[in-house]
Amino acid sequence: MIAGRYAAASVALAVAATLASPAAATSDFRAGDGSARALAPLAGKVVVLDPGHQLGNHNFPHKIDRLVPAGGFKKPCNTTGTATNGGYPEATFTWRVSRLLKARLEKLGATVRLTRHSDREDRWGPCVDARGRAGNKRPADLKLSIHADGSYAAGARGFHVIAPTDRRRWTHDIFKPSRRLARTTRASLEKVGLTVADYIAGGDGLDFRGDLGTLNLSNIPTVMVELGNMRNRRDAHRMTTKAGRETYARGLAIAVRRFLG
Ligand code: ZN
Repeated sequence: MIAGRYAAASVALAVAATLASPAAATSDFRAGDGSARALAPLAGKVVVLDPGHQLGNHNFPHKIDRLVPAGGFKKPCNTTGTATNGGYPEATFTWRVSRLLKARLEKLGATVRLTRHSDREDRWGPCVDARGRAGNKRPADLKLSIHADGSYAAGARGFHVIAPTDRRRWTHDIFKPSRRLARTTRASLEKVGLTVADYIAGGDGLDFRGDLGTLNLSNIPTVMVELGNMRNRRDAHRMTTKAGRETYARGLAIAVRRFLG
């Protein structure tokens, strides 16, 4: 959740590499033969994953309420995120999905950077400006900011994808590829059986916003995904099971591969 609007081929390649280079007995895309790595579908690509909210944000209200640049205006550093009715936090859900997704992308040959490195009650942040700039200095090929929503509207469920609007000086350079990334992400999540949100974003699963620092400050194609509604029983069930989280990670990995392929 974010602050309110205004508040197998790999096995074949590994085998080939092993045959070509007997010394590389444990060959894989990272440790093995260089030519095999070059053949990996995402070889040479860099992906930033931003697992929304640190688990401990609620323990540091003064830190996360601090105003930071958000693209021509200021917004609070971060928020606490939401949770399921059973108390499973958004922070932990997005952390686990991001870890699963990272493993999948690395298998495809990508380099993956995360915007946080733990899921702990004694940590906070990172602020939205740091999240927004992640991937700019050492340029990455795309950035996914991963969240889940917390709507109490009756029956509200499903995912939606948020892309930046065209704002000169801020997102003019990235809004077109980001829009393409948003459409690719929507199609990929649908491909693994997830349904588009019925309660927000006009019902088509795509939203465009100019008020999010995480999107405004990015110089690389980026979208934010709200993978489902944690307050909905069916979505919550998927989010709190390993198999369910694998489904989200699989859909997002397909999106990255399609976008960068
Ligand atoms: Zn969130």
